[in-house]
Amino acid sequence: MLYHSTRNELPAVDSAQAVLAGLAPDGGLYVPRNLPVLDVAACLEKPTMEMAEMIIGAMLPDIPQMDQLVRAAYVGKFQTEELTPTVDTGKFTVLELFRGPTSAFKDVALCMLPQLLVAARQAKGMDEEILILTATSGDTGKAALAGFANVPGVKICVFYPQGGVSAVQRAQMVTQEGNNVAVCAVVGNFDDAQTGVKNIFAASDNGRLPAGNRLRLSTANSINIGRLAPQITYYFKAYADLLHRGQIQMGDSVNFCVPTGNFGDILAGWIAKKLGLPVGKLLCASNANNVLTDFIRTGTYDRRRPLHKTASPSMDILVSSNLERLLYFLSGDTALVAQLMKQLNTEGFYTVPESLKAAIDAEFWAGFCGDDEAKETIARVFREQHYLCDTHTATGWAVAQQYVEQTGDNRPMVVLSTASPYKFPAAVLSALEGASGLDEFDQMERLQAITGVEIPGNLQGLREKKELHTGVLNKEAMLEFVMGL
Ligand SMILES: *Cc1c(COP(=O)(O)O)cnc(C)c1O
Repeated sequence: MLYHSTRNELPAVDSAQAVLAGLAPDGGLYVPRNLPVLDVAACLEKPTMEMAEMIIGAMLPDIPQMDQLVRAAYVGKFQTEELTPTVDTGKFTVLELFRGPTSAFKDVALCMLPQLLVAARQAKGMDEEILILTATSGDTGKAALAGFANVPGVKICVFYPQGGVSAVQRAQMVTQEGNNVAVCAVVGNFDDAQTGVKNIFAASDNGRLPAGNRLRLSTANSINIGRLAPQITYYFKAYADLLHRGQIQMGDSVNFCVPTGNFGDILAGWIAKKLGLPVGKLLCASNANNVLTDFIRTGTYDRRRPLHKTASPSMDILVSSNLERLLYFLSGDTALVAQLMKQLNTEGFYTVPESLKAAIDAEFWAGFCGDDEAKETIARVFREQHYLCDTHTATGWAVAQQYVEQTGDNRPMVVLSTASPYKFPAAVLSALEGASGLDEFDQMERLQAITGVEIPGNLQGLREKKELHTGVLNKEAMLEFVMGL
């Protein structure tokens, strides 16, 4: 199947090449020339892992043996074979995406990506080892480490800002086991770590490190189509659950509300709809960083505003890269997308044509919710539905509620839950009983004691685990560190 850049239809590559390259040479994102045809009814009858095989296989047909790759990615790593369970709370249905090895929704994609990369590398006869380089502000680093650990033919190196991640996030990363993993703190903030990584790429020759080094650089970030494709599956899984519970009939449409940052998760929902799943509205939920709310409501994307630090940090973002794919899909016009992206880069904003705005309106709705409302939502949902949400999920819940109140659309609503409440214990505990003065690990214990919701296995006992990666570097020393891997 042919893929090309969002900014130019040439050159076209196959799906294995698109996964290996990540970003297109012109800076655009890879999109399929045509979306595949899927037998939706057959897909909905399958267990989740076979659904994944069918959907990812349809999106990336040039990567062979998808059944084995899916099993290697998920078996034994997720809490259940259904991977992403749904919970009927009596009000909204919650789709729990956090039952993977690091309790973050990014696990769904980052367990699969290494398998896809290695298989694509074999399919293309590449013999160099791949080195995944990632700078992280918290969640992505650990999910990438867990996904890539001990995968043959790949190494992974994660840099995080010293003092810039939470105690739990740091503990998750520095205790990572595996014969192919490296983790190192960088003096400075996230931007310093990110700049250091970009400098390493800039110093390389087309992804090859200098001085005869046999490692080929790549990244694990969410622009790779190999990260997007696995996320389509859970929309089908949620729909199948509603069917099985008798809450809908085949063909009934279901609304989905998605806590959004880089627009990858919600775009996967839009692709699910184009593959034939009866999806109603896709609700884009943001926190105080409401660039996307403004865009979907007005048609103008404007990043010229301060970035707020919020209680839902994985959504603190001003430029949502995957939106570029939606602009292409809805317009089919690479020249238009190239021009809008150029304007975003040089002037900090763009406005889409009326027809494109209308196409967005037909399928999306957007809202946002600040930290106070998110915390009130955590407390209220726990009180009324006995369901414990993290801050990102609460943002989605609040926006879903706004939508129902403002539109009266009461089709079944699925709220995507993107993190375990135990990944953000300070905010969740304070929502329930006020500020505590406890450290993060004690906050987890306290949260478990008052809610009865169990701490996920991977977060239990983290404090006692052996720290394996204690190095700290200046960003100037990062290249040398990587050359030594
Ligand atoms: C990454 C992340 C998001 C945002 O997902 P996008 O695909 O970037 O929109 C939301 N919540 C959590 C907890 C995340 O880690």
